Amino acid sequence: MSLAPQPADSELADVARILRDLIRIDTSNHGGDLTRPEEPAADYVQAILDDLGIPSTRYERAPGRTNLVARWAGVDSTLPALMLHAHLDVVPADPTTWTHPPFDGVIDDGMLWGRGAIDMKDFAAMMLAAVRRLVAEGFQPQRDVVLTFFADEEGGTEFGSEWMAAEHPEAFAGVDTAISEGGGYSITVDGQRAYLMNTGEKGAYWLELVARGVSGHGSLPAIDNPTLRIAEAVRAVGAIEWPLVMTDTTATLLERLRELAGLPASATPEELALVAGPSATRIRAGLRDVSNVTKIAAGYKENVVPETATAVVDLRFIPGREDAALAHVRSVVGPEIEVRVLMELDAFETPFEGRVAEQVQAIIAEVDPGAVVLPHLIPGGTDAKPLRRIGIRGYGFIPLRLPADFAFPRMFHGVDERVPLDALDFGEDVVRRLLTQQ
Ligand SMILES: [Zn+2]
Repeated sequence: MSLAPQPADSELADVARILRDLIRIDTSNHGGDLTRPEEPAADYVQAILDDLGIPSTRYERAPGRTNLVARWAGVDSTLPALMLHAHLDVVPADPTTWTHPPFDGVIDDGMLWGRGAIDMKDFAAMMLAAVRRLVAEGFQPQRDVVLTFFADEEGGTEFGSEWMAAEHPEAFAGVDTAISEGGGYSITVDGQRAYLMNTGEKGAYWLELVARGVSGHGSLPAIDNPTLRIAEAVRAVGAIEWPLVMTDTTATLLERLRELAGLPASATPEELALVAGPSATRIRAGLRDVSNVTKIAAGYKENVVPETATAVVDLRFIPGREDAALAHVRSVVGPEIEVRVLMELDAFETPFEGRVAEQVQAIIAEVDPGAVVLPHLIPGGTDAKPLRRIGIRGYGFIPLRLPADFAFPRMFHGVDERVPLDALDFGEDVVRRLLTQQ
């Protein structure tokens, strides 16, 4: 396809220029040895911060896996600090499936295309552009503002936020609230815009189901073939109908959606989620625990009955349901199937109140009159989880005002990830207004 000439740096807003530069630094997190280090992206960010006179410190659990923490000193450093954080790694992209190469930072159709455009180099660019403008204006915040750029969010956080929270909590001294990803984009309900704020995250268990049997020759009647029992266990997990579980977050969200859509009080949670259009699936995922079988393995030779057969279940639970959800999986697969916990991530819910939540709501009312901010329990996990363990209240809010029909949630880890340039400008404006209140 023919492509319009690409704008020069000088023709782009600062936020778009920074994002384009960051997209062009391939930081694909494949997990393991193939992972491309975050260091070049951290170098780029640190150079901007150095220029602004904002000191930053690098932390690396392994060479190249750079975390960068900067502290923009406030007038009164004894006040609780606000942190903005972004991860600099991205999930890999297969260029053969993309309209434009995923690491070229192409601008087309009013949008900036590339891996990381929304997850989440966009927020790194908003942070840097907003701070650069404020520093140029001579602004100094009252409280400290910590700007953090993590490694390894997409690989499980062990070189990033998990390790930082465990080994370098001092980097975040004084921070009581943080803003990062998982929300902030607009949805349109019955012609009215609403911005979802991530105020909670579901938790996760990755469970291995193990069936043990008796190995034998494939030509003989089997004594105890574990493949059959793992198949039954997989069917049993697939048949689970998880109950509806309302939390404070989802109850508030659904009630506000009901008001926006003008639906009667009798509307069901499922019906209410549907009014969120392309975001309905993410909202529905917050109403129940969710379990999916993601792997099955057994056997090593065509004529050998194997001794074991295994399956992996990705179980996502509502805050407070970690024990009940796990117990339910154990009960449906039965006592003969061993259930091993491979990985656990905690769930949490943050009250939709307090200094920063109020500031964000007031700013959105100012820049997008009539629009509202709604709390949202997100189905996945972010860097907010480890930070919560060191007492930091986390919200997900990357401000993006989007067209009503923009299928935004599908862009996360998806093909043709892209962000409208005017949404980037909007986001930088919101971030800048938020910083002026610190
Ligand atoms: Zn992300």
